[in-house]
Amino acid sequence: MSEKKLPVLYDDFLEYFPDASGNDVNGLGEAEFRQPSPFFWHPHDKHEFGELQTEVVGIQRRSPAITEHYSGDAPRGPKLIEKAAAAIKKSATDCTAAVKKFALAHEGDDVRITDMDPNYIYEGYELDDPWIIIIGVTMDHEELNKLPASLENPANPVEVAKQYNRAARVCREVTNYILAQGYNAKPWAGPFASALSMMPAAIDSGMGTLGKHGSLIHGEYGSSFRLSAVTTDMPLIADQPRDIGAEDFCANCQICIKACPPGAIFEEKQMVRGVEKWFVDFDKCIPAFGEALGCAACIAKCPWSTPGRAAKLSEKMLNRRALTRD
Ligand code: SF4
Ligand code: SF4
Repeated sequence: MSEKKLPVLYDDFLEYFPDASGNDVNGLGEAEFRQPSPFFWHPHDKHEFGELQTEVVGIQRRSPAITEHYSGDAPRGPKLIEKAAAAIKKSATDCTAAVKKFALAHEGDDVRITDMDPNYIYEGYELDDPWIIIIGVTMDHEELNKLPASLENPANPVEVAKQYNRAARVCREVTNYILAQGYNAKPWAGPFASALSMMPAAIDSGMGTLGKHGSLIHGEYGSSFRLSAVTTDMPLIADQPRDIGAEDFCANCQICIKACPPGAIFEEKQMVRGVEKWFVDFDKCIPAFGEALGCAACIAKCPWSTPGRAAKLSEKMLNRRALTRD
């Protein structure tokens, strides 16, 4: 390997690749179910791509405009309180309604619930609480769409950082709300990963479906949003997954494939850890992701992300399918 340089361009990031494929870590081609492996964005010493991850994060930190939002002073919500000694007894119906109302009143744009599943937990971690409250916050699509991002044009990663912080504030407020009622609660916020894989939980909670670009398509916000979560033992009622018709749309759409600079998005679904699903080639994506300070071209250009469009597309696709079946 040649001497590594401070990465700025796609090929610079390739210099930091270990002698391995991220697609293997993610389980591409594996027919059996297994839990996801800790990978990007887990602590850099927890996986063999840690040096690459450090450089991908490091390029963002060369921008003061971005770094400001990831500093210790960034507004990421209140300090956590102690759990109250005695739990306030309420029905699951009342708890569910109250916690959703609270989250929506504290900067959340969507809040849904699902029950814990091994598919949501990274290998090597354990989570005991039975419920996951999933919170969605929307991004300013105009800022998200200021592409390609660079150290001179950091609007896109700044917006992403701001919304990660907002999502963190909501989940910490919700956590304190639950702790004050005497139940366990733990907040989970990005951008760094932890025990909880939020996207499959968000899909099962009914936020939307997986898009061809490998990100969630929300039924109202497309892919222009960020997630956070709270795990808890407060009695709750799970929401159900919902079909928003995006599967049919993705089957005949090429927009994200054409928008992806390195051609990382597969045309067809792939077998990944026992499930056939849309998948993005990690080894192609991540150097472009680094070069463009987070890239996001696929989610910004997805037609479902255009403000006000997702719900209309969903209605149209579901109506079309109903007509085809008649
Ligand atoms: S751009 Fe098109 S194919 Fe890609 S995720 Fe969005 S709807 Fe699906
Ligand atoms: S983040 Fe960029 S490189 Fe990665 S899949 Fe999306 S468009 Fe392609």
